[in-house]
Amino acid sequence: MSRSIPAVLKRDTTFKRESGQVPGVDENTGGLSGLFAPERVAVIGATESDGSIGRAITQNLQDDFAGETVPVNPKYDDVLGLDCYPDIESVPGELNLAVIVVPPSIAVDAVRQCGEADVQNVVVITAGFGETGSEGASREQELTEVAEEYGLNLVGPNSLGVMSTPTGLNATFGPENALSGSISFMSQSGAFITAVLDWANDEGIGFKDVVSLGNKAVLDETDFVNAWGDDPDTDVILGYLEGVENGGEFIDAARETTDDTPIVMVKSGRTEAGAQAVSSHTGTLAGSEQAYEAGLEQAGVLRVENVQELFDFAQILSGQPVPDSDDVAIVTNAGGPGVMTTDAVGDSNLSLASFTDETLAELSEEMPDEANIYNPIDAIGDADIERFEKALDIALADENVGCAVVLSAPTAVLDYDQLAEAVTDLQAEHGKPVAAVLMGGERTQSAKEKLSEGGIPNYFDPARAVRSLDALSRYRTISQRDYDEPAQFDVDRERAAEILARADERGDNRLGVEAMDLLDAYGIPTPEGTIAEDPEEAVAAAQDIQGEVVMKIVSPDILHKSDIGGVKVGVAPEDVYDAYEDLVTRARNYQPDAEILGVQVQEMVDLDSGTETIIGMNRDPQFGPLLLFGLGGIFVEILEDTETRVAPVSEREASEMVEGIRSAPLLRGARGRDPADREAIVESLQRLSQLVTDFPAILELDVNPLVAGPDGVQAVDVRLTVDTDEL
Ligand code: ADP
Ligand code: MG
Repeated sequence: MSRSIPAVLKRDTTFKRESGQVPGVDENTGGLSGLFAPERVAVIGATESDGSIGRAITQNLQDDFAGETVPVNPKYDDVLGLDCYPDIESVPGELNLAVIVVPPSIAVDAVRQCGEADVQNVVVITAGFGETGSEGASREQELTEVAEEYGLNLVGPNSLGVMSTPTGLNATFGPENALSGSISFMSQSGAFITAVLDWANDEGIGFKDVVSLGNKAVLDETDFVNAWGDDPDTDVILGYLEGVENGGEFIDAARETTDDTPIVMVKSGRTEAGAQAVSSHTGTLAGSEQAYEAGLEQAGVLRVENVQELFDFAQILSGQPVPDSDDVAIVTNAGGPGVMTTDAVGDSNLSLASFTDETLAELSEEMPDEANIYNPIDAIGDADIERFEKALDIALADENVGCAVVLSAPTAVLDYDQLAEAVTDLQAEHGKPVAAVLMGGERTQSAKEKLSEGGIPNYFDPARAVRSLDALSRYRTISQRDYDEPAQFDVDRERAAEILARADERGDNRLGVEAMDLLDAYGIPTPEGTIAEDPEEAVAAAQDIQGEVVMKIVSPDILHKSDIGGVKVGVAPEDVYDAYEDLVTRARNYQPDAEILGVQVQEMVDLDSGTETIIGMNRDPQFGPLLLFGLGGIFVEILEDTETRVAPVSEREASEMVEGIRSAPLLRGARGRDPADREAIVESLQRLSQLVTDFPAILELDVNPLVAGPDGVQAVDVRLTVDTDEL
């Protein structure tokens, strides 16, 4: 079971942070150094029983751990030849970490004893907590409380454990230790860790720290992002997550970390999109999957779909520098695969480099006449190592080249080991990222190892090589992006609070156009409008507005007013009285018990020169307020052309939402139409962002339509749901 730890696979990478930090010092690992680099570890529940977890952990620690392992169990005097203590209190000297493997009924007590004995870091392997029903859930609650009382860094419960290769720490019950490397890996599934390690060990992929998050009763993904972001020995953070505990905190932590440490994540499983009934358009359009997509993107996380990409990206990010430009050179001895690679480049954000005249001149001098010297460079099938090496050297020297794919089919005149060596040397010499596609079976094995020593991944499939280079380029963009703080507008917060409080007074948590003033209080423009409670009032209101008006039924029970004929556009002054009665009659026919608050009489908004858009918010259980922008009106759900972001949004993010929808060209003015005032939309989104951030009581809200004209926007409809307990 014991395996020696081979040479560190860690590479120097150009994007790594400047650091004068000393590993192992608390500030550098976000206060978790005692967890990953302890000197003495207690195993509470250590035993020699065959097949037990208590034995596996003690054995794993004994095999590779550079520090001291201290078994704790009242039943034994020694375990696996180590002195065993009856309880944590009787262990002499300082302990940095306790691993808890006792049965669930006594696990919380064991943690409390750790707190009493001043052991700061605890890993609870024991299962039978929140994952098992209500008794387990209350036990987990207790566990969290004890951990908080003593300020413990607690991993788990229901965790496989933690690993850290610099000290050989393997406090898990998995069958294998990890190889050393610079990837730190967290996983919500312990089983996934054992599977990954088994595979990674064969692939020669190494890790710095590994943590099985378990039920995340205390420490969660955000804590590890913070810790590893500050850890000079972690070059890449990987995560396999089923959910994010606190989306907002996670975004903040990740945003800061991804400046100099890339984060790559698989997010699996679906979360319940919250218990609240979804009644808004935004609610149906912006589910929890959108929240993850938006949140992880805003956080700068490279989200991947599968495990292969997780490690493809991890390897290239830890092994290669980021490219200065996105222009790829392809160097090959095989035409067909060269075309495949070119296609893959076309599918990515990268582009095919166009060589300078000097490069072309040099290539034509060095290559045979039959070779193709334009990108992709085809050195043709009889290319030997010298020709291949020359071609790559010339390509990498070209200032128009940001990165390269070296692509080769096996031939009798080419030795893969030599090629691997040449590629590794040239990559190091030119400092540009390279991905290799030395195609073949068994014969590629030793070449692959050579490349890997140089931090260069090798793939069979050219598309994987291109996607990996693409990930490097995406990470460059992420690491360079500036985060601007969300704007704070001067708003009337008190008035907004009063309007929201009406929901409570009325005993209904839904508000409609009668809450239009809420938008006004936050500076989102609305047309003039009044709620009339009888036909006479409606006539008077219409007189104030002058000209034709729009009339709408006002009832919390009627969500989509026009569906029941509850909206009349272009009502002439003389028709207002009858229109009032007609609207109320229709509503009564539709739903006899509907509560009717009256009829809104609203100024007409010019729809001919404007575009109906929607701005809205739906509160996600993990990420909080999720803003939505799209084309609006009555076809919004059919069009499904929307962009989402987690609020609060910066101006840049709001503007990305507006420019990001498929129909954005429409807003820029198509077919002779005047362009819409996009700045006004962007500002309305920012103001809405501020509103929903200021009032967590707003569960969902949409403004549909927000009419975007050439000179500003008008919100003509609003609907929201309020959590009256939060008011
Ligand atoms: P609902 O969405 O409940 O059916 P709206 O208030 O959004 O009710 O009205 C439905 C449609 O009527 C809008 O999408 C818009 O096309 C039109 N409309 C509503 N108010 C106005 C207005 N003030 N000026 C012009 N058209 C309007
Ligand atoms: Mg509407």
